[in-house]
Amino acid sequence: MTYEREELMIERGDEADRGNSHAEAALQAQIAAIRSEIGKTLKPTGHCLFCGEALAGALLFCPAPDGAAPDDPTCGSDWQRQRAAKVRNGR
Ligand SMILES: [Zn+2]
Repeated sequence: MTYEREELMIERGDEADRGNSHAEAALQAQIAAIRSEIGKTLKPTGHCLFCGEALAGALLFCPAPDGAAPDDPTCGSDWQRQRAAKVRNGR
């Protein structure tokens, strides 16, 4: 049955076009604001602030693995997204 599959794809496309890109832009703006605050307000604790992994040196988050793309998710980017979502929810 290819018909059902097509309908699924159309629904998913709609969701991405409507609203979602707008929400994503707002999230990115929020993340940019949070990123500029990180250096001023956060102090290294010896543990990743996102997953709690023990870290050497003055790192706030686990470093991206060797060979990772610049836009690959890391503990730092995940933390920023999480923080941005909380700010948007008023927390
Ligand atoms: Zn981590």
